[in-house]
Amino acid sequence: MNTDAAGSSSPTLSLPAAFAGARASFVSPWRLWQQLSPRERWLLFGAWLGSLLVSLGLGVLSVVDEWSGMPLQFGGVTIYITVYPALLISLWWSLCIGWWWGAIPAYLTTLALALYAGMAWQWAVLFAFADPLGVAVIALGFRALPMLRGLRSLESLLYFVQLSFAGSIFSSSGALIWTYSNHQPLSELLPIWQGWWLGFFLQNLLLVGPVLFASWLRTERWLYTRLQQVQGSDGESRHLVVLLLVLVSVGVLVFGYLSLSLGSSLLLGQLQHGLAPEVRQAALVMTQTGWVFFWVFVLIVLFNAFFAYRLFLHWQGRNQQLLDALKQSNTYLAQLVRLDGLTGLLNRRSGDEVLQQEWVRCQHSGQQAVLIMLDIDHFKQVNDEYGHDVGDQVIVQVAMLLQEHMRLHDTAIRYGGEEFLLVLPEISLEQAVTLAESLRQNMAARPVYANQVDIKVTLSLGVASSSLRMADKAAWVKQADMALYQAKRAGRNRVVVAG
Ligand code: GH3
Ligand code: MG
Ligand code: MG
Repeated sequence: MNTDAAGSSSPTLSLPAAFAGARASFVSPWRLWQQLSPRERWLLFGAWLGSLLVSLGLGVLSVVDEWSGMPLQFGGVTIYITVYPALLISLWWSLCIGWWWGAIPAYLTTLALALYAGMAWQWAVLFAFADPLGVAVIALGFRALPMLRGLRSLESLLYFVQLSFAGSIFSSSGALIWTYSNHQPLSELLPIWQGWWLGFFLQNLLLVGPVLFASWLRTERWLYTRLQQVQGSDGESRHLVVLLLVLVSVGVLVFGYLSLSLGSSLLLGQLQHGLAPEVRQAALVMTQTGWVFFWVFVLIVLFNAFFAYRLFLHWQGRNQQLLDALKQSNTYLAQLVRLDGLTGLLNRRSGDEVLQQEWVRCQHSGQQAVLIMLDIDHFKQVNDEYGHDVGDQVIVQVAMLLQEHMRLHDTAIRYGGEEFLLVLPEISLEQAVTLAESLRQNMAARPVYANQVDIKVTLSLGVASSSLRMADKAAWVKQADMALYQAKRAGRNRVVVAG
């Protein structure tokens, strides 16, 4: 869906993957306030206050100069359009930074112009919500789907057009309040209402769209560098999508309903003035057909909304499946990194972590643990005589022998090529020596069968118990290593206890 990144012509402008989730997010003024440096804070909020003042001025000007519901001839049809530049400022703030940034100036401007035009304050307070509502629908749309606001792909452009239309319908609810509170007749509603939504829609497409196109990538980069973490969860986006579908459907239906009922009430008004019966009949048929069409249209819109919702759920479910699979393979990879590829025992790096934990535990609890360092005798000869593959099989057999003798909390580590380290917590030195001896005897007694020959393998083992006198874990390992060295020196195939 993030088609803008692909569509962006400049590769240097593409952002790290970590920011992908943030693309659809909007930032509230209080959050930015906390995250900006004082200088940037004053710059940004100063610019915002400045644009609020400009917006207020433009709002009042649009009443003074009567920019509302101006008739335009368009292909023989009269359409009405309202020019309301104040809204463009709010839209830009809302779409580039966050809904509140535009909603506040949109509300205050509409409130000011309504009061200026003499609307009762109770009505004005309600009336002023119209534009923030329209802006909310567009901002919500961009929040619900991770579609980029730079409008650099056909997909995001079409999405912007659709959202602008839905937003304009919601914003034009103000026209109903305007005519009602001013006690204007129904025939006055059509120009005001149409002027409102068409004006909002066209200004958004022709002016806000290009400005977004030009400014969004920079704003996005700027926001990205200022915000540490940007939220956005699946649960949130599901609710937003449902809300968006409901709002857009309601918007489209209200649009259809108002257009038809206002149009047909005007027409019926005209019919009072006496027309030929055939014309009157034709007009009635036309109106009725219009209404039939409307109800079919309602069904189609509802079907589409439902279908889109199901599709979205399906898509989200698939995404979740992929994420789960990814998580699983990550866990698996993390395991792999810890293990030795040949034997499946812990490798030296992760073994060292276990050793460190055991060392710390012994130091804190005063309990004793024992290390057994063991090494295959004359292993080089095995390699030389039977080849490296057979050597590998011998190593695997030794590892299996160790695992057979391990208790639940013991750890066997492949410490070097043919060298192993056993970490044995909560064990006495005698028990450990018995274990070492039984490992030695078992290995000596059971030749490894590989490459159709029996290979006699013996082990040398050094045993060292932990002590509070040791400086660190390296000293502990060193003791086991020295005992192993003594076992080698004494003729191999034996157990030597350190100290
Ligand atoms: P000693 O009794 O003194 O331990 O003699 P040794 O021959 O076992 O010891 P040395 O350290 O001389 O040789 C160890 C050999 O183990 C050398 C190395 O090539 C071999 N080796 C190390 N890792 C592997 C492995 O993963 N597979 C195989 N096949 N051989 C290995
Ligand atoms: Mg060896
Ligand atoms: Mg060795």
